[in-house]
Order: sequence, then structure tokens, then C-alpha cells
Amino acid sequence: MTKQHKKLGTKIIILIGIFLILQTSYWFSITLKSPNSFSNKYLESFFNSTKSLELIQEQINLGPRIPGSNAIERTRHFIVNELQDWNIVFQNFSKGWGLQKDVPIVNLICQPPSFQQSEQIFLIMAHYDTRLWADNDPNYLKRKEPVLGANDGASGVAVSIELAKVLFKYHNLTNFYLVFFDAEDQGGINGWNWILGSRYFSSSDILTDINPSFAILLDMVGAKDASFFKEINSLNYAEDLVEFIWDTAHTIGYNNYFINKSGRSITDDHIPLLEKGIPAIDIIDDFDIRFTPWHTSFDNITFIDIQTLQAVGTTLENALVLLNNEHKNLIFLSSFHYSPSFEFFWVLSPGIFLKFYRCTRSKKNMKKSLGFYP
Ligand SMILES: [Zn+2]
Repeated sequence: MTKQHKKLGTKIIILIGIFLILQTSYWFSITLKSPNSFSNKYLESFFNSTKSLELIQEQINLGPRIPGSNAIERTRHFIVNELQDWNIVFQNFSKGWGLQKDVPIVNLICQPPSFQQSEQIFLIMAHYDTRLWADNDPNYLKRKEPVLGANDGASGVAVSIELAKVLFKYHNLTNFYLVFFDAEDQGGINGWNWILGSRYFSSSDILTDINPSFAILLDMVGAKDASFFKEINSLNYAEDLVEFIWDTAHTIGYNNYFINKSGRSITDDHIPLLEKGIPAIDIIDDFDIRFTPWHTSFDNITFIDIQTLQAVGTTLENALVLLNNEHKNLIFLSSFHYSPSFEFFWVLSPGIFLKFYRCTRSKKNMKKSLGFYP
């Protein structure tokens, strides 16, 4: 070995050394930020799953809640009736649909009585429309029939209403809104896209005025033996919030519902909020793998289980009360506008590359709309 070779060898060893130190620091820094260090404790729960089940049944009794239908108009009355004394704003717009001109699309933005402006305002969200076509039905002849939406529609609304009442009545929380979206579930029918209601809401001044710190979306939260995996877009852009909710569920003992694994990439009503930089997560059953009644004529009350409703309701009741009391200063970050140029380690750290790759890959998915539509 020549002298020059020796010099080169030393240089390579030094570079590898620097690289390893940077790598260790990087992983150490993200370990420090890990939300697993939250110490959650179990509170007494007031969430009533029997009441939620009744709220699902009441929506089903109205029939399929298709945008522009009498049934969806009656669903709005049902929500207003459930939330008496709440301040409810109807956010209207309209869109042609097939031969129908100007089908009204209405989001409901509900503020609890004695609402208090605070530094931390959060949203609990669900869609209340049901799909016009049961195009996933095993029976070909039923694929143009409407979906009743016990799980896909009614369950999210029912759990949101019961949860909101409990937060307000028993825990004195007034720093949140309930938001019910219209026209989530009509993608690919008569030229409509998915998540129309939440897209409109997210680009409106109402969202700018509310300026929420974070948002939680409930979709398909009532099926027996539901599996809530960590949805990929939520995980990529609002990881801290996902981990906090799942940690809370595990503390309470609902680890059989809130599975400690990442699920799939799903294009749901949380996406437009994520695009605005608001940490927003989707709590959604892994419908395609397990929930066979999804977008079929079988999505009826027989598939709803009060234990699932209780698991979701109690978990969120605990998590949201903890966030407003013990973890008041916790700030959730959305990494949608993540800018790696500010990271000193970026140049040499494959860890950062991985994170960056995950974000850009997921952004591409969003743009191409490759996520599954619920
Ligand atoms: Zn759906």
C-alpha cells in the first residue's frame, strides 16, 4: 500500500465516521420527538354507544341520504334537532349532476353553546351523504341501487354527535366544531368527483376564520370487529396526532381495534385540510380487506356493533379531554409543507432522504389520486 492509498483510506474512514455520527444524531432527534413518551391515563368515560346506535338507526330510517334528496334534507333537520342550542351554519353551494341542474350541496358547521375562542380549536368531522350506487354489490342487478350507509355515512355522524355532546356536557369543552360534509361519496357517478363538500369547505373563508389546530375525521366507525389501521396520509402528514390517538386507545385497552400498523393511503375528507397544512387524520375501518358490505346493499344496521362504537367514542373522549387538560401545550405539526432545506443533516443523512421520499411519494399519490376512495 502506498502513502497516497493510506491517506485516502484515512479520509474515507473519517467521512464514514462523520456520516455515522450524523445518522445517530438524526435518529436520536426523532426518537426524542416520539409521541410514545406521552403518559396518557384513563378517564371515566361518558360516551354512550347505545345512544350512538339509535342515532344510526334514525338516519337509516330516513332512507339513502343522496345529495339533493328529501332524505338528506331531513338528515340536516335531524342533525339540527340533535344539536339544539348549537350555532349551526349551513354552507351551501350547488353543482349539476347528470340531468339534474344545481343539486344543492350543504356542509353543516356546528358550534357548541357558549363556544370559547381559544388557542387550540379542533374539528370533529364526518360525511353525512350516502352513495347513490351500490357499485360494489356482488349482485350485478343491485349495483345501481342506493347504499343505505349504516356504516358508510351514519356511523361517523352518530359517533361525532354523541362524542360532541359528551365533551360539552361532562367535560365542559367548548373549543371545537362539528363539521358534517355533504357529497363525499359520489365519486365517479354522473361526472362527480369524491370529497366535494370538504374541498369546498377547505377552500372557503370559514376554515380560514376557524383556523383549527387539528382535525379528526370519522368514517366507517361502526362495523363489528373493525380494524383501524394508521391511514398513510394521516401518518405522513400528521404523525404526532395519529400516534397520540392510537396511544390513548392502547392505554384504555382498545388495541384490538386501533391496530399498531400503517394501513393504506385513502383519499377522504381529511385530505383537503392536510393540503392547507392542518394536521388532520382519518379514523377509518380497513373496509376493502374486511368490511365486505362497503358500497353494497348490505351496509345496514346488522353490521353495526356497539362495541366498535364504544371503542371509538371512548378513545376520542379520553384523547380530546387529555389534550385539553394535561397536554394543553402540545402542538401537532403537519408536515405537508415540510421543507428539507432547513435540515442541516439532510445532505448526508439517508434517514432524512427516506422521510423526504415518503412525503414526495405520498404527495404524488395525492395528486394522482391513487389513494382508495371510501
Ligand atoms: Zn363510501
